[in-house]
Amino acid sequence: MERTLAIIKPDAVKKNNAGDIIAMIQQAGFKVLAMKQTRLTPAQAGAFYEVHKERPFYGELCNFMCSGAVVPIALEKENAVADYRALIGATDPAEAAEGTIRKRFASSKGENAVHGSDSVENGVNEVAFFFSESEIAANNA
Ligand code: ADP
Ligand code: MG
Repeated sequence: MERTLAIIKPDAVKKNNAGDIIAMIQQAGFKVLAMKQTRLTPAQAGAFYEVHKERPFYGELCNFMCSGAVVPIALEKENAVADYRALIGATDPAEAAEGTIRKRFASSKGENAVHGSDSVENGVNEVAFFFSESEIAANNA
């Protein structure tokens, strides 16, 4: 079993698309290990996207991720990381395949509805960024 972290981003939460996105994730066979709605501080957004700090869009990305509530979701499935990346589609919705979450709900390369971990190692680390093991265990006892 693998873990991956989904985040429903502020654009999708504001448009009331969280429920439809969670339904697509569950219908694709992912188990929700833990989930919450929260608002990131600038420090949290900066730390979460630290890997992108040299990229030109880093400031814009951090501002956007703090602009409203987000819904982080810890997911579990066999092949979760790759399968979830396939479900969300390309970063740029113009390039996202039909039937993907980003094709349906993203409005631009920046405001693209959802986050997804990009490796098995990052899946574990990003789940731990938002959820403790005891919280996950309590949710699934
Ligand atoms: P992904 O989310 O598909 O893994 P990246 O890791 O490359 O994409 O980028 C992280 C996030 O940064 C994207 O989801 C998007 O919100 C934002 N982003 C990426 N590229 C751009 C860009 N060229 N302009 C604005 N925002 C961007
Ligand atoms: Mg990425």
